[in-house]
Amino acid sequence: MSENNTNSEMMNNFIHDIIDEELAQGKVTKIATRFPPEPNGYLHIGHAKSICLNFGTALKYGGTCNLRYDDTNPVKEDVEYVDAIEEDVKWLGFQWNKRLWASEYFDTMYEAAEELIKKGKAFVCNLTADQIREYRGTLTEPGKNSPYRDRTIEENMELFHKMRDGEFGDGEAVLRAKIDMASPNINMRDPVIYRVSHTTHHNTGDKWCIYPMYDFAHPIEDAIEGITHSLCTLEFEDHRPLYDWVLKEVGFWPNPPRQIEFARLNITDTLMSKRYLKKMVDEGRVDGWDDPRMPTIAGIRRRGYTPEAVRKFCEEIGVAKANSTVDAAQLEAAVRDDLQNKVPARNVVMNPIKVIITNYPEGQKEMVTVENNRNVPEMGDRQVPFGRELWIDGDDFMEVPVKKYFRLFPGNEVRFKGAYFVTCNEVVKNEDGTIKELHCTYDPATGGGGVNAGRKVKGTIHFVEADSAVRIRIREYGHMMNTLEDGSMEFNQDSLKETWGYAEPSLAKAEPGERFQFFRKGYYIADTKLTTDTEKVFNSIVSLKSSWKK
Ligand code: ATP
Ligand code: MG
Repeated sequence: MSENNTNSEMMNNFIHDIIDEELAQGKVTKIATRFPPEPNGYLHIGHAKSICLNFGTALKYGGTCNLRYDDTNPVKEDVEYVDAIEEDVKWLGFQWNKRLWASEYFDTMYEAAEELIKKGKAFVCNLTADQIREYRGTLTEPGKNSPYRDRTIEENMELFHKMRDGEFGDGEAVLRAKIDMASPNINMRDPVIYRVSHTTHHNTGDKWCIYPMYDFAHPIEDAIEGITHSLCTLEFEDHRPLYDWVLKEVGFWPNPPRQIEFARLNITDTLMSKRYLKKMVDEGRVDGWDDPRMPTIAGIRRRGYTPEAVRKFCEEIGVAKANSTVDAAQLEAAVRDDLQNKVPARNVVMNPIKVIITNYPEGQKEMVTVENNRNVPEMGDRQVPFGRELWIDGDDFMEVPVKKYFRLFPGNEVRFKGAYFVTCNEVVKNEDGTIKELHCTYDPATGGGGVNAGRKVKGTIHFVEADSAVRIRIREYGHMMNTLEDGSMEFNQDSLKETWGYAEPSLAKAEPGERFQFFRKGYYIADTKLTTDTEKVFNSIVSLKSSWKK
């Protein structure tokens, strides 16, 4: 474990109930899981659920979890994806037992296929892909046997060797398991387990021109590694009989793994597919895989989410047997909960309005004390400058106040946080009618935020001293996708809003990746890509207030 401890105790986890029972019955002793990504894109928050479940289960039971790249498909490996996957798993706070490649098992998979042929449980079929589909039948009609189904064992072995030796072109022959063309489960209707593909593999080069299909390869990968529980998403429930069939019929492994399916994570307004996320990147709609709007682990990391918050969220949503969609606000709430006691506040104003304290001596400045985090006294105080010219936030002034508006308006007195009580006397306008500045007076007897003022004010606002203010760039984010009425999603053109603000002087030293609460606004992080020594760019992480009700 890196960073903070992982709370491996998950709520509503039926898989742990199963494991508890198996341990009690002595069916298993040491738990072994795996996380098996296909290295064809960056991991997303859905993968985080699988990572937390697989690694969290291993941790909880003192077992192990492997990181296994599912590279049985001979597409070009992308080092970028492999590196990103490893960075993401580590960032989430987990460490794998072994790092493995499924392609390392091609020899064993091949032997397993020969074993099936020897047992009369597999045959080489020369139907075309279209014909195989036709013969397969439908959900309501049984399939038809392939005309090649009754080839002898010797003939099948010879043809399989020919497949291996490159004597067939792509699609000219496949190896199929011989199960049952009338099975109500279509996956059991003589599924293809090996195909010909004259493609160079990133790991095995041109050694093979036949490659195993997922449903054949995956159980074998699990069994070779001694995985006890192969956790996968619900779509694979109907594939479980085939998973079990392969292990039983190949018969190489006396203690085969058990596949258990769980509900995949869906989040409102969130694309949860590497393929679609890649499209967003390729079309240039976002600033790469780690754009802070992306639901990739790299994206939410850059956005400022913490691994603790992601793990807590995964724990809260639990592991269930039925698919459902989680409100994005629940993830945001987990982030807010995690940050509220961790990060210090800083004064930042947006849409700033100039305030002149007309009775404050010109050229004078003083430092006033404000707390860093009102929830956490141990985080201490800091000093911010106060002077004759200040900036306040555009939201903290109304020329004509609405009902129950307790912030600054003409004639009203408010507390300037940590400094003095200030009254607005006059609104000075530009020629075009916009506000140029507010002329205000302060009460020198109300220092320290008015502790000894002897009277109360209803509003407290913050400010930034004008002379020392630091101009910062701020990026506010909405959801990357909007869900349309028919349930489909489209890119939200308004998902990024660039704005700017004035900040207290300390933010001039903000380091990339440093998080703050912009006082009374929300949580922000100095962007790791755009922040430089001279220009600070902040991402909004999450607002202060939640729309999420537990
Ligand atoms: P995608 O469609 O986004 O590419 P995938 O399932 O094809 O997802 P893999 O790399 O094959 O991606 O997945 C690795 C592991 O992560 C698998 O065990 C898969 O079940 C799991 N996983 C993927 N998406 C989710 C999700 N939304 N919720 C939970 N687990 C997921
Ligand atoms: Mg996949």
